[in-house]
Amino acid sequence: MVDIRGVHKSFGALEVLRGVDLRLRPGEVTAILGPSGSGKSTLLRTINHLEKVDRGWISIDGELIGYRSVRGRLYELKEKAVLRQRTHIGFVFQDFNLFPHLTVLENLVEAPVSALRRPRAEAQATARRLLERVGLADKAGAYPRQLSGGQQQRVAIARALALEPKVLLFDEPTSALDPELVGEVLDVIKDLARTGTTMIVVTHEIGFAREVADTVVFMDGGVVVEQGPPSAVLDDPSHPRTRAFLAKVL
Ligand code: ATP
Ligand code: MG
Repeated sequence: MVDIRGVHKSFGALEVLRGVDLRLRPGEVTAILGPSGSGKSTLLRTINHLEKVDRGWISIDGELIGYRSVRGRLYELKEKAVLRQRTHIGFVFQDFNLFPHLTVLENLVEAPVSALRRPRAEAQATARRLLERVGLADKAGAYPRQLSGGQQQRVAIARALALEPKVLLFDEPTSALDPELVGEVLDVIKDLARTGTTMIVVTHEIGFAREVADTVVFMDGGVVVEQGPPSAVLDDPSHPRTRAFLAKVL
């Protein structure tokens, strides 16, 4: 369970998150929609503590992220403890972020070996299984530059899965792709949804959100304006700001 409570975040005088509350049950897929600058990426980055919150807190399976609580007071965790927490929070970025000098297989093996201390042979076996799952078993020895954008993003997803994340965060995973490559990446994410992976997907793909999300969240101005099942938020939005946004993107 991912629990986000009263999260505030400012950059200087700019208040980007102004009290965000969200709860995700295990296995649930949440799609976040909203205009540019509404704080979607910042919210994802607070979940794995790439950004520190100014107020509020985030917990995953009951464990506070970035802090520990002692008699009701919060103390910041040391860097090493934050890194350990982060290994269980998968993050897939818009621009893939693969290690360019490592093969596809090595991209998947690196973190489990170094961060989770998995034996290399075991990590390699897992990596091959995951590559098969995203349809890239034949690309294990290739380098990222030899792959299409869609293939690179599927490797990035497999790499995130290799760390057995409690939750997978996607920040516009298809927006850097040529249109004909979007489908193959969304298909992989849909497959993960079917197998009960807990996910938060920031996306502009309304059709995908409608099909895959259990909950659609509409953010604007640093707050959650509206949330609910796709049939409510996308087809019968109750807030004028949601209606105005959907009218523009649909
Ligand atoms: P988009 O749809 O364009 O990706 P977004 O909803 O993801 O937008 P954020 O990236 O979260 O929006 O940014 C929200 C606001 O915070 C923007 O005004 C942005 O310029 C600002 N911002 C984000 N990160 C920083 C930072 N590190 N320093 C200063 N301002 C920042
Ligand atoms: Mg963003």
